[in-house]
Amino acid sequence: MAHVYPGYPQRWRAGVMRGIVGRRSTSMPTVVGVLTAEERQEVEEVVLRYIATRSRDFPKLRASREVPLDLLARGALEHPVGKYRWRCIDLLDHLGDASADAIFRTALNDPLPRVRRHAQHALDCMKCRPR
Ligand SMILES: [Zn+2]
Repeated sequence: MAHVYPGYPQRWRAGVMRGIVGRRSTSMPTVVGVLTAEERQEVEEVVLRYIATRSRDFPKLRASREVPLDLLARGALEHPVGKYRWRCIDLLDHLGDASADAIFRTALNDPLPRVRRHAQHALDCMKCRPR
């Protein structure tokens, strides 16, 4: 039996099937583990805003607490596009604390090899993230 990956793609597809993903209506029920269209857009905005941060600027950015780490954690597991999942992992590698390890361990089961490689790097990395 293969790994059962919590965020992708089964649950995301299930959300699409049920008409939950991709709608903005506030009367729609909240589904844990599936980003709404609005949350997906927020993840993408955060990634695009911060992904080009230079290494030497991360400590200051980290101290500012302006980056929503909880949103990055969800994006790392739940964004339907792999590019955003591994970019969320990269940002968490620089900005997250020890609690991000659980996210990285879950991402080791991602269906995309590149996402798994970034997750493994983040778990092994002693450079990007102060501990
Ligand atoms: Zn690293």
